[in-house]
Amino acid sequence: MFTVAARTMGYEVIVLDPDINSPAAAFASHHLCAAYDDEDALAQLASQCAAVTTEFENVPASSLQAIAEHIPVRPSASAIRIARDRILEKRTIRDIGLDTVDYHVIKSESDFKNAIEKITFPAILKTATLGYDGKGQIVISSSSELEPAFQQLGAKPCVLEQRVDLACEISVVLARSVCGHIETFTVAENWHENGVLDMSIVPARVEHEVSSQAEKMARMLAEELDYCGVLAVEFFVDKNNKLMINEMAPRPHNSGHYTLNACLTDQFQQQVRTLCGYRPGKTGLTSQAVMVNILGDAWQHGTPSWDELLKNPGTFLHLYGKKEPRTGRKMGHFCCVGEEREELLVQAEKLKKLLSSEKD
Ligand code: ADP
Ligand code: MG
Repeated sequence: MFTVAARTMGYEVIVLDPDINSPAAAFASHHLCAAYDDEDALAQLASQCAAVTTEFENVPASSLQAIAEHIPVRPSASAIRIARDRILEKRTIRDIGLDTVDYHVIKSESDFKNAIEKITFPAILKTATLGYDGKGQIVISSSSELEPAFQQLGAKPCVLEQRVDLACEISVVLARSVCGHIETFTVAENWHENGVLDMSIVPARVEHEVSSQAEKMARMLAEELDYCGVLAVEFFVDKNNKLMINEMAPRPHNSGHYTLNACLTDQFQQQVRTLCGYRPGKTGLTSQAVMVNILGDAWQHGTPSWDELLKNPGTFLHLYGKKEPRTGRKMGHFCCVGEEREELLVQAEKLKKLLSSEKD
């Protein structure tokens, strides 16, 4: 979607992606099909591009650093290094003075005792790196479950987090230019199923103070990191309306996909603008929105019929061009836009049900 935005704004794009079926490459001027640490490919990017960005935080920071010696890399390798590692991420957020959930770092079995004494169960053990869509996480109900869970996750560095009794989850997606101009998108309310984002409702149904506080915290994080690019900040809201930062993503975010249909500028155009040194565009809402993810599960009996979705003039379908519709894999999303989010919610639930009933 970044590539589409960049091409429609007049830029050429070279995509580095080891996947021969890379969806981004289908829209690119050129596809470098190589590993993210391939020296020749990185050298080509550095010599042929004016600037480089990433939509994937697991690109090695060393690759981004190597390119940054020649051309601007936005967001910076150092920001990406923080966002891809839960230990560094939480420590950075706390150092800035913002709240996270209570957590303990578990690097080896010698860290168990201290963590068990201090944490209240239930808790969640998460691998420090490479987790996404709820993967690399295990719920721990009592202290005896910690050791087998740690082994199951490969005995790699982890964080043990308090499980929060959530009122809801919200997120702020913002764009910050190299000169420090910030535009934030309207706060989204996010509902997950099995650790995977299922639905975003915009504007979030929280009190004004809660959404403005979230926006303030996200801005502060971006400023303290001297961040350039699109940044998504996920928040937990507990039953007392206390806000805690769950995690950040150094790129356009699934909970910001609604911006494609309901905002003056979308999050991918923001990534292009900030990469190219411009100010982010205005982010005003053109309507309310409910975004629903479409997972590979919907393909159980072949490609689903999109008829019901597309019959509706206020519903927009986005498919990502991924070849393999695996269970739980994000294949696309749809977005219902209109004046009243409660009505959109009813409509979205109906369409979602139709897609999932095709499975049976
Ligand atoms: P991922 O990198 O997979 O998005 P997250 O840490 O955001 O990992 O976890 C995915 C989802 O799991 C969260 O959005 C939330 O719904 C749930 N979750 C994760 N950690 C906690 C927690 N400490 N308390 C309550 N729910 C949690
Ligand atoms: Mg998350």
